[in-house]
Amino acid sequence: MRLVSLTVLLLCTSLVARAEGHLIVLVSIDQLRQDYLNRFEDDLSAGGFGMFAERGAVFTDANYDYASTETGPGHATISTGAYGKTHGIVGNSWYDRHARRSVYCVEDSSTRLIGAQGEGRSPRQLIGSTIGDELRMGSGFQAKVISVSCKDRAAILMGGALANGAFWFVDSTVVSSSYYMDALPAWVQKFNAAGRINAYFGALWERALPEERYKKLDRDDAPYERGANGLGQTFPHRIDGGTPRTITSSYYGALRSSPFANRLTIELATEALRAEKLGTRGVTDLLAISLSANDYVGHSYGPHSHEVFDLMVRTDSLLAGFWRTLEEGPGLDHCTIVLTSDHGVAPIPEYISAHVPGSGAHRVDPRELRSRLEARFAALPAPAHEAPGWIARVDGDNIYLDRDSVRASGLSPVSAAEIIAAQLASFDEVFAVYTSREILELPATIPIQRRVRNSFMEGRSGDLVVVLRPFLLTTTSPTGSSHGSPYPYDSHVPVMMAGRGIRPGAYDAPASPADIAPTLAVMLGIELPSLSTGRVLGEALLSSSTSGKR
Ligand SMILES: [Zn+2]
Repeated sequence: MRLVSLTVLLLCTSLVARAEGHLIVLVSIDQLRQDYLNRFEDDLSAGGFGMFAERGAVFTDANYDYASTETGPGHATISTGAYGKTHGIVGNSWYDRHARRSVYCVEDSSTRLIGAQGEGRSPRQLIGSTIGDELRMGSGFQAKVISVSCKDRAAILMGGALANGAFWFVDSTVVSSSYYMDALPAWVQKFNAAGRINAYFGALWERALPEERYKKLDRDDAPYERGANGLGQTFPHRIDGGTPRTITSSYYGALRSSPFANRLTIELATEALRAEKLGTRGVTDLLAISLSANDYVGHSYGPHSHEVFDLMVRTDSLLAGFWRTLEEGPGLDHCTIVLTSDHGVAPIPEYISAHVPGSGAHRVDPRELRSRLEARFAALPAPAHEAPGWIARVDGDNIYLDRDSVRASGLSPVSAAEIIAAQLASFDEVFAVYTSREILELPATIPIQRRVRNSFMEGRSGDLVVVLRPFLLTTTSPTGSSHGSPYPYDSHVPVMMAGRGIRPGAYDAPASPADIAPTLAVMLGIELPSLSTGRVLGEALLSSSTSGKR
């Protein structure tokens, strides 16, 4: 009898405790194409990625509706519901015409790292509020917003200006910035003191599944795989940076490109969850997690590699474990879990051309393209032969003019941009080229043009934006793959939600990671992020009066 009462009492206590909190868990898998969930479906579990299909809302046609599909812009869009044209993160970096140098999207020389030596980072270049910022303001700053990732830009931009803390990895240490705090919280200090990041030195990354499960993929020893930092092209991969006796910076490069980096990030998130008692404090907290290994591995081995597939299988079980951690913590019924990605990745061009000779898929070295362009100008009448001097910087798809040089040639920047654009437009590789004046007038009806416009901010973007043809890879490397184009292989990513407030279902209506922040805001009854233009995904909300359009 006494035992029964105790059990009842414990049950009631736990019910009371669990009823008190709500936790938003925002998971971004860095570089996750939507098609991975279909191509690898047979080897993914109902408990990991499959949890969303089992009990959540799955959007199968979610795209970034912009051109600069990179990590900085992607994470900024997830948290703000806006695009680079307003939130200002137009790329991982951009050219600052006044400073005459490249600016990194989260650099901030007025801050310092906490936990390591060096210049700090901050969200100061992100314009407008994030969902986390609105949560903090809406709760009178009672809500906690914590963001973790291997990458500074992912952690910082997922959190926002008012986050309690963003944490990322610098070599052997989890760090933050003086923007947020003067000292690392005890749980991060403990994580560092345990030497967890160095603990994988010499570890072996082996196949998670029997070798036959990998037969549907490209060959494991494809010559266009990068396998840098001593990882090599084939399984198993040893994580020692190529220097088996000593830990060097190359070890951290190898670790980042392995499943162990994701494991460390989830362990850090788990420490945050427990130490900060997230989701059990009578308010709504937000825990943002960005898993970076998938991006490093995708860059190195490409989307059809054994490594990308294996990492997906391992990420799947890592997520399944983390859902169990959430169940044991605040309880899944008290969590709203969102999973998405910051961008996809292009297929390796040599992989396509090996199967379809003459497909036209190939690498484009931007330096080679630039010298071919400059050679053209030499043959043109004055002042066009001065054009090479007009180009101050090429940053990704953006060409920035040195406006002083242009004016010294007796031209306006607009005229100079038109002269350069006319030449570029005749290159086989170029799908479209737009001057900044044209971009500001591009109609929203043509998808590629809309995407170029949505990534463009005057002052931060270039005087010209070049879009190469699909399946051409802009890179200076002879191996691996990349992203950053407006095409579906880079823009089409998962948007999945489950848990409290979410109406389960599969939805094929167009959606976007930009819809996540406004949808959460409406669900939580807080203000929308200030520049949000995403759609409230009302069809995926319980007891929502929103019909899906706004
Ligand atoms: Zn990324």
